[in-house]
Amino acid sequence: MQTIFEPFRIKMTEPIKVISKEERIRKLHEAHHNVFLLNAEDCMIDLLTDSGTGAMSARQWAGMMLGDESYAGSRSWKKFESTIRTITGIKHIFPTHQGRAAESLLALTQVKPGDLIPNNSHFDTTRANMEYAGAEALDLICEEASDLEKEFPFKGNMHIGKLQDCLESHHEKIPFVMITVTNNTGGGQPVSMANLKEVRSLVDQYNIPLVLDACRFAENAFFIKTQEEGYAQKELLDIAQEMFSLVDAATMSLKKDGLANIGGFFICNQDDWAEQFKNALILREGFPTYGGLAGRDLEACAIGLLEALSLDYQTYRHATIQYMLDKLIKAGIPVVRPAGGHAVFLDAAKFLPHIGKVHFPAIALVNALYCEGGIRAVGLGSLMFGKYDASGGLIPAPHELVRMAFPRRVYTQSHFDYMVEVVLNVWGKRSELSGYLIEKEPPFLRHFSAWLKPV
Ligand SMILES: *Cc1c(COP(=O)(O)O)cnc(C)c1O
Repeated sequence: MQTIFEPFRIKMTEPIKVISKEERIRKLHEAHHNVFLLNAEDCMIDLLTDSGTGAMSARQWAGMMLGDESYAGSRSWKKFESTIRTITGIKHIFPTHQGRAAESLLALTQVKPGDLIPNNSHFDTTRANMEYAGAEALDLICEEASDLEKEFPFKGNMHIGKLQDCLESHHEKIPFVMITVTNNTGGGQPVSMANLKEVRSLVDQYNIPLVLDACRFAENAFFIKTQEEGYAQKELLDIAQEMFSLVDAATMSLKKDGLANIGGFFICNQDDWAEQFKNALILREGFPTYGGLAGRDLEACAIGLLEALSLDYQTYRHATIQYMLDKLIKAGIPVVRPAGGHAVFLDAAKFLPHIGKVHFPAIALVNALYCEGGIRAVGLGSLMFGKYDASGGLIPAPHELVRMAFPRRVYTQSHFDYMVEVVLNVWGKRSELSGYLIEKEPPFLRHFSAWLKPV
């Protein structure tokens, strides 16, 4: 079938303000050419992130009304805890207000200066939290991922050889190994169960804990079901349970596969980790049975986690990405292949080869998409990941990508057709686009708030 079947009907609508191209150009100028500084109402299609931007189901909204706002041991906490235990089988469960709070408390309690944290690929907040604690965050992504257009089903896999070398040389400095499903930064590409098992057996040799960044565990489970041998007949829940059975701990943003607008968790099997985490949680987030969330949020998250494991939902979710990617590939647009789990990624370095990396081609493309069609995407390139050398020169990121992340259950097929049309229009005038310079930047996560100016 060519048509996406959205397995839901729309019960409530939210108007989108349509604004002219002239207005969009003016708004972007006022936002210092950084789309993070735009007002959301000036974005006709907002693909900045899939984080916390999804539409909740009728069941989740009904759950919100059942929220038990008791400070300690609430009914909503019990539901949250038992749902996560069913999916993960993990012993200690702590709510946090979002994913980075779990990461920051993990770093605070388990990471010290001089440590090394290997990961298939750190997400930006994970990297920032590990580096802030004085550790080096090491990305050990598989070989296949470096070729952006290569069709390989599990481009999020950990590079086993590199992890082995790293453990052999530095195991004393490694408090834990992380693995991120799916690999957000590298195209939403999944990790296979076979790779997870190999990582598990490697860390076991050194008795080092394995921590899953589980933000998109359900999307990853769908890829395992549809792409990995031996899983076609399994339920997504069974696959998720198997994934979690291979790790000692996990961090999660429930704004992703929790299908909620806020929430996160940290879970672990180690009693000593749990004790340290709990004490840090009480100090920073709240009592361990609410962890910075309202009872109604705990309800929405518990219901959303199970909805994310619905096969109809995941089939539809994947179809939206595949649909858009197929149309872009057909038009010759450089994109990351194969389709990831939550976004379409344009390769800005190939899209705009005339713009040097010091002038941030990913940002040039993001800004062009906004001016052309009011679409807000995000640049994953040298503005986000670039560093400075000793003399202040830019060390560029390995790739210049533009991520168009799809909010869950929000946009319809005609919105996707519109997005394709906008990308094609920008493609048609790509030679006229130019790059950007940084006018002002903060010390951490500069892409969020930097001021830019056109070259
Ligand atoms: C979003 C995300 C996080 C951080 O979660 P927040 O809820 O945004 O703090 C961590 N890791 C990955 C892979 C993510 O996508």
